[in-house]
Amino acid sequence: MNKLLATIAFLLGGILMAQVPDLSGDYELIEGKVIEWRREIHQNPELSNREFKTADKIAAHLNSLDIQVQTGVAHTGVVGILKGDQPGKVVALRADIDALPVTERNDLAFKSTITSQFLGENVGVMHACGHDTHTAILMGVAEVLSKNKDKIKGTVKFIFQPAEEGAPPGEEGGALLMVKEGVLKNPDVDAIFGLHIKSEIPIKVIRYKSGGTMAAAQRFVINVKGKQSHGSQPWLGIDPILISAKIIDGLQTIISRESDLTNEAAVITVGKIKSGVRFNIIPESAEMIGTIRTLDYNMQEMINRRMEEMVPAIAKAYGGDASIEIHTTTAITYNDPDLVTKMLPTMQRVAGNENIQIQKAITGAEDFSYFQQQVPGFFFFLGGMTPGTTESFPHHTPDFIIDDSGLILGVKTLTEMSLDYLNMGD
Ligand SMILES: [Zn+2]
Ligand SMILES: [Zn+2]
Repeated sequence: MNKLLATIAFLLGGILMAQVPDLSGDYELIEGKVIEWRREIHQNPELSNREFKTADKIAAHLNSLDIQVQTGVAHTGVVGILKGDQPGKVVALRADIDALPVTERNDLAFKSTITSQFLGENVGVMHACGHDTHTAILMGVAEVLSKNKDKIKGTVKFIFQPAEEGAPPGEEGGALLMVKEGVLKNPDVDAIFGLHIKSEIPIKVIRYKSGGTMAAAQRFVINVKGKQSHGSQPWLGIDPILISAKIIDGLQTIISRESDLTNEAAVITVGKIKSGVRFNIIPESAEMIGTIRTLDYNMQEMINRRMEEMVPAIAKAYGGDASIEIHTTTAITYNDPDLVTKMLPTMQRVAGNENIQIQKAITGAEDFSYFQQQVPGFFFFLGGMTPGTTESFPHHTPDFIIDDSGLILGVKTLTEMSLDYLNMGD
């Protein structure tokens, strides 16, 4: 009897194994190429909405793979469509491709010495957020999947997105513009995956969070109106600086007294105040600007509503007037909990169970969120730190560094998440 059970278990195991394609040969062939592409792109970084050469390189690669290619999407974006041999759902994979106005400071052989114009200034340009690695990883995934069309049940859409760091003032760009231009349509995308390399996560490790993962960013402007008077006679005026102080105080109580911080974190920061010209004049008005970060749409709605109620009410209490405008600049990077549950076994298989870790919420923002507003998505973090390193340099700084031996895990994970997702029923 035991022998029979063992035989059944062996056969079942065999069937399950058969469903997991062995792509180890493809991965071995692609790793060197991915690292080489990454270094070439690293050495030739381009600013947001100016990724012309990067886009050419991506398009040439996709064309060589017999993938249907669209260029000029959201200015410099490139989209590839790969149809599998069998019909099925559509999965999208996204990589951002832009660099930053940062001057690189290290001794790497492939260090960037590129300079460019940014807001009228001559600046160094550097892949200081690691988008070079994302681009190379997705080029690698495209090559591996294009060689395995017989294993694809459906369609894979490769989205190479410009301007994740934000389009220059006065220009549109990034994920929002891609969505507007219909990147998730024709064929309609069922789910989207993306990753971000992290300089502080060791290579071979993947971190993720279900639900609100990176914050929505909103910008607010408050205008306070008082009444000008001599600094020696405040009783003849209405002091907009004092009212501003009371407003700042009030806004922080929305976070500390009214927000359920056990649910998700939330932040209000006043980043700039402008008022007054001289020590002995109470000015007429004040302006404050700041940012709101939220990880949950209900909390965002409450915080926005309370700010709109509180700002004019506080000003009124002191005899003045105040108005507030809130503009959303980025949505919540929200990982669909069902999709996360479905895809976790794939990640565990590819990276090894012990290398999958839970990520805390991040109050920084990511425009992958705009794709996730349209379709379920899963955005996770990939290790880029050399093991044994004691110090990692933060993203967006001149010393930022990534160990590219970690990239192959990104290729494997996105490749197998795509195949597994397409093979799953609804
Ligand atoms: Zn960045
Ligand atoms: Zn980034």
